[in-house]
Amino acid sequence: MATRSSIEWTEMTWNRVTGCTKISQGCKHCYAERMAKRLKAMGGGRYTNGFQVTLHPDSLDAPRRWRQPRVVFVNSMSDLFHDEVPRAYIERVFATMRDCSHHTFQVLAKRSERLAALAPRLQWPRKNRAALRACNQHVERDGVFSEGLRSF
Ligand code: SF4
Repeated sequence: MATRSSIEWTEMTWNRVTGCTKISQGCKHCYAERMAKRLKAMGGGRYTNGFQVTLHPDSLDAPRRWRQPRVVFVNSMSDLFHDEVPRAYIERVFATMRDCSHHTFQVLAKRSERLAALAPRLQWPRKNRAALRACNQHVERDGVFSEGLRSF
């Protein structure tokens, strides 16, 4: 399931994980937490667990069916590098991104340590835009993130 986004710097959200836990001051006013609780109260099917980390493996292949190039925000309602997201699952998300070179994927993560640990083993899509947001810092790299990661 993907949703047209009102966020100005993206076109779509693609949430294969929902829910998270707060890890820093940067999480204090978490939009995803507020939305997850609201959607749960409204009976939103994907949010029956509220803000608990929940995997949604269906639609992992959805971007493969989108013919028009799109800018896609991956996991606007979670952190893909949360400890409760298995490495094999992250690799499946990356496999889809890698196979869909006509799209531009945006990945935001606050779990910088896990991201750094996994990055060398992940096959990053060539057009991926990866952004690492840690607390109040915002560092962004275009291109092959695993190379840019060395300078973080
Ligand atoms: S990492 Fe992101 S989604 Fe998770 S609690 Fe913090 S702000 Fe919310």
